[in-house]
Parts: sequence; C-alpha cells; structure tokens
Amino acid sequence: MSNYDFDSTYEYARKLDQQDELASFRNEFYMKEGSIYLDGNSLGLLSKRAEKAVLDILDSWKQLGINGWTEGAYPWFYVSEKLGEMSAPLVGAAPEEVIVSGSTTTNLHQAVATFYAPEGQKTKILADELTFPSDIYALQSQIQLKGLNPDEHLVRVKSRDGRMLAEEDIIAAMTEEIALIVLPSILYRSGQILDMKLLTEEAHKRGILIGFDCCHSIGSIPHHFNKWDVDFAVWCNYKHLNGGPGGVASLYINKKHFDRTPGMTGWFGSRKDKQFDMEHSFTKANDASAYQMGTPHLLSVAPLIGSLEIFAEAGIHRIREKSLRITRYMMNLISHELKGMGFIMGNPDDDNRRGGHIFLEHAEAARICKALKANGVVPDFRAPNGIRLAPVALYNTYEEVWKTVQIIKTIMSEEQYKQFENVREVVA
Ligand SMILES: *Cc1c(COP(=O)(O)O)cnc(C)c1O
Repeated sequence: MSNYDFDSTYEYARKLDQQDELASFRNEFYMKEGSIYLDGNSLGLLSKRAEKAVLDILDSWKQLGINGWTEGAYPWFYVSEKLGEMSAPLVGAAPEEVIVSGSTTTNLHQAVATFYAPEGQKTKILADELTFPSDIYALQSQIQLKGLNPDEHLVRVKSRDGRMLAEEDIIAAMTEEIALIVLPSILYRSGQILDMKLLTEEAHKRGILIGFDCCHSIGSIPHHFNKWDVDFAVWCNYKHLNGGPGGVASLYINKKHFDRTPGMTGWFGSRKDKQFDMEHSFTKANDASAYQMGTPHLLSVAPLIGSLEIFAEAGIHRIREKSLRITRYMMNLISHELKGMGFIMGNPDDDNRRGGHIFLEHAEAARICKALKANGVVPDFRAPNGIRLAPVALYNTYEEVWKTVQIIKTIMSEEQYKQFENVREVVA
C-alpha cells in the first residue's frame, strides 16, 4: 500500500486498521467510550503505564518518606536525569544532553538567559511572527532584562501567507545584528515542519546560536539534534508525549556548551555528589542537569516514566510512519467528502513538511468545533478560524478518522453548527 492509495469507503478504513502495526498500543490508553479524541497534540491521553508510574511514586512517598530520594522503584534524586536519558532517542541526543525540568516557558527563559549575550553589533534575537505567544513574551522579557528594548531587539520573520514560514526568509533575516535565534520546530497552527538542519547550518555559518521550541514535534517526528548540531531545545511533555496536564517539560543542551554556567542557577543544578555539601559556591553538574533549579516536581514528572516506555517500544520511526499515513488519509477523505463546504487545508501537503496534525480553516471554525464536541469528537480550535485535528499514531484509528469526516459532513450539510455561537471558549 502506498501513501497515496485511497478509497473513501468505511471498509477501507477498517482494512487500514487491520494492517496497522501500532494498533495494539491503543489498549494502553484510557479511551472514552463513544468519543473520538483528536486533541492529542494539545493534551495527550492518559496511558495505563503513566497511571501506574504515578501510583508507584505515590507509593514510594507512602512507604519510604524521605528515603524515597534514594530508594524505591524510581529514586527521586535521579528521576529527572533518568527521564532525560529515556527522552534522548526521541531527539537524537546523548543521554546527558537532556534534562526533564521546569515548563517550556521557564526552560526557554533558562536557555535564553544562558545563550543570549548581546555584544557589539550582535544584540538581537530572531524569532517569527507565527510562533507561540509564550515564547515571544519570554524573549521580550529576556531582552528587557539585558536593559534593551524588545521593540528594537526582537526581530520577527514574517509569513508570506499567514500559515507557513519560508526558510529562505528566515535565512535572509540572519543579519550581522542577530545574536540568537529561537524558532518552533513545528508551527502550532499550520503544523509546518521547519528545516532544523538547514537553519542550524545557516545560523552557525554566521556565528549565530540557535535553539528550537519542539512542543509540537516531540513524540510526533524524529529529531537529530546531534547530527544537526542544534545549540539547545525546549519542549513540553504533555502533548504528543502524553505526560499529563501540567507535566514537567524538557531541555536539550548540546554537549559542546557544557562548560557554560546556566543563566539561572539553583541547587538542583549542582554536581550530585556536591549538592548536599551545602556550600555557597555553586559546583555545577557537567551536563544538561546543571539547568535544573529547584527540587523536581515528582508527582508531575511521574506519568512521563510510563509514557516514555511506550515510546521506546513503539519507536519514533514507526510512529512517524503511521502519523504520515493517517494524516494523509484524513486529508484525502476531507478533499473527497467535504468539497465545496468552505474548508481550506491550512497545513502543508508535503510529507517532509507536515507535522502530526491537520489544520482545517473555515469561517465558522469556532462553532463547527462546538458542533463536533456535541457529536462526540474532540478537536481543538485556534482563533480566528482554525480547527486542529490530530489523529495520533499511538491511539487513534483510521475508523475514527473516517467517522469524524462523516460527522463534519453531516454538521455542514445539516447546518448543525448554526445552533452554536461562533466564538471561542475560555480554554481552546
Ligand atoms: C504548548 C506550547 C507551549 C506551552 O508552554 P508551557 O510553558 O508548557 O505552558 C509553548 N510553546 C509551544 C510552541 C507550544 O506548543
């Protein structure tokens, strides 16, 4: 079967499910009966193994008290490093280059506090106008903390069509004034993958450091940070990685930067054997774990232990293969079934460019999303006119995709969406 074989029948969807090598992983997750969950790119679902890991950590607290730091199934003192090691294959890094700590936004603050050193004419940070707002807020405040004006020192590459970014435009913006570049790996709306290898090469040619926000790519596509020589990256673990709401995030630091002192230090960044000497001079760890600050949030990090085991078994390459196949299938069905209904496919068509979700644009998007929810489908709305649909490789089926497209078709042909207001809800 090639990616481009297509048949719009229900039987064909069933056949694709029968051929799906990853099908058994669905049983690992809590799927709500009668509901089709297509929002795994915003909040991944709970797996049984993640749940067990939380219970195990709770149990070690119950049974061991303070001794849980060094005893039990997952000695707490080493959990963040252990999870870094388990995450490393997902980003093509060495185990000691990844640490699980903080949130995406705090990790971005940490990385920028470390790598942004305005000097001479190199004083600006390069980002883009489509990036996630929190990243922009973080960059603005980091520029301010250096005593500079963000209006002047934060450069945002423009998008030509409001959906995608052109690498050539980003490269053209890598002027002599740029000290640091922070870009998303996958744009959170259109799902476009940026060419991280090319952008890193071009940045380094110009003596510019570069880091990526990988919230939407982690667990959905493979990365090769070492090969690409990316300077740093940050990501959250609660989207494709199913690490739980508010789960602890991650930071990758290229080992060539291990001699740097993190911009924001705290005692959990100490060399482990020195930490409890309680000295007032900081002896930093010689790897990414130096980028931690305070005591790890054990209860929030716990689900990731179980979740990453699933990723190790499924393998990111197989996950990507299914993701490409099922998103392509959904796009084909949408073109076939929803013709003339006012939908625009806002995500890239090309397999090399397309991330783990589909982005459908429609003038009535907000209320179509509400009608979808009323019909048992969980999408996610992105203002002003976007519907994100993520058929997730580990737990969604081709059958669910087929049903979803039929439901959208009915919502449109019966004008069901008109029963709802076309405004977003407080959390979208
Ligand atoms: C989800 C997401 C975030 C969220 O940041 P938190 O600090 O985890 O709230 C940041 N950036 C991108 C690109 C995201 O998709």
